[in-house]
Amino acid sequence: MYKNEMCSMSGKTKKQKYIEAVKRLLITRRTLSRADVCEELNLDIRTSTAYLNELTVAGFCGETEMIANGKGRPRKVYYSECDKMIFVGIQLSKTNGIRLIVIDYEGKILLRSEKVVLQQSKLYIFKRILAIFNNIQEKFPDRKLYAAGIAVSRWLQPPLAVFDLYFGLCSFLEDELNIPVFRCININALAYKELDKNKVDRLAVIHLGQLLELGMIKNGKIAGVDGALERDFAHFTVAPDGEKCYCGKKGCLENYVNLWALRDGLKKIIGMSETDLPDNELFSRGGKAAADYIHKTAGYLAGAVAKLYREHNLDRIVIYAGNSVLGEDLKKQFEKSLIPVEIETEAEFSASIVRGAAEMARYLSLIQYFVC
Ligand SMILES: [Zn+2]
Repeated sequence: MYKNEMCSMSGKTKKQKYIEAVKRLLITRRTLSRADVCEELNLDIRTSTAYLNELTVAGFCGETEMIANGKGRPRKVYYSECDKMIFVGIQLSKTNGIRLIVIDYEGKILLRSEKVVLQQSKLYIFKRILAIFNNIQEKFPDRKLYAAGIAVSRWLQPPLAVFDLYFGLCSFLEDELNIPVFRCININALAYKELDKNKVDRLAVIHLGQLLELGMIKNGKIAGVDGALERDFAHFTVAPDGEKCYCGKKGCLENYVNLWALRDGLKKIIGMSETDLPDNELFSRGGKAAADYIHKTAGYLAGAVAKLYREHNLDRIVIYAGNSVLGEDLKKQFEKSLIPVEIETEAEFSASIVRGAAEMARYLSLIQYFVC
């Protein structure tokens, strides 16, 4: 049985590392003999056979007998079953119900859909999600549902919600479907999507929304699952003489770059504290003072991002800027810098989460050990 409820991965054993390497060989070469594995990984024949058999039982590869050059005894050959695999990503949100995506082993999208599940009991929702998975397997009879990824909005789980409605969902699905099911919050799902897109090992994703969110992946693993990295980043001091934060320090980054703070700043500039004008309108009414304010705020973030980049030795940083004017200013600031930063929009943020959930399943089950 698979038990990966919170996607927290401990250090790999030697065996896991070897299995991972055999998988990589199978994906790149498509067929392998036991002798190939012995040679490539410097293993004895008994161990190579055991690993290949384990992967065959898990459905990662198939085996057949072949006669080399038309003579001699038949030789066992293992072939990759990757092109038959499908990976499902689902996104659970409070407002949009269930979003769903199916991809193949190369990441090509095979199906996209949205299902609305009205407020129902936990058992009903779990069974409904199981039915969705069974339905997908029926839709692709020639393929095998190999792994699933679930992205859950942080607003649906503690500390932001009173309880976690989806607690136990991964184990329930793993027991019913006998596949690995991974779960994470939206920002980390996005990190998996970017990881594949950018082909890098160390990546951070930042979202400037109602909160300041940070997701980071180092060598395939989510870094800081306990939230400490995100907390440190959000409460990095950018204005030493700034307002006192709820954390006890002064001038923390989060209090300048979240969407509400930006809005309040613009409202103050145009002297309309009660207005519900859209952000862009507030900005254009504010003239030069608003542009200066946005530029200064973008500078705070750029400074914090540069520090993050250095401290974690990152290959790439992707920023989803909730406020488009701030996004444009950031883009200009990073154009001149050597830090590899990409700026994306809020629309791109919500559309990409479900894709990230599927990428997480594909990445963790194909490349990492999570079979058997
Ligand atoms: Zn603070």
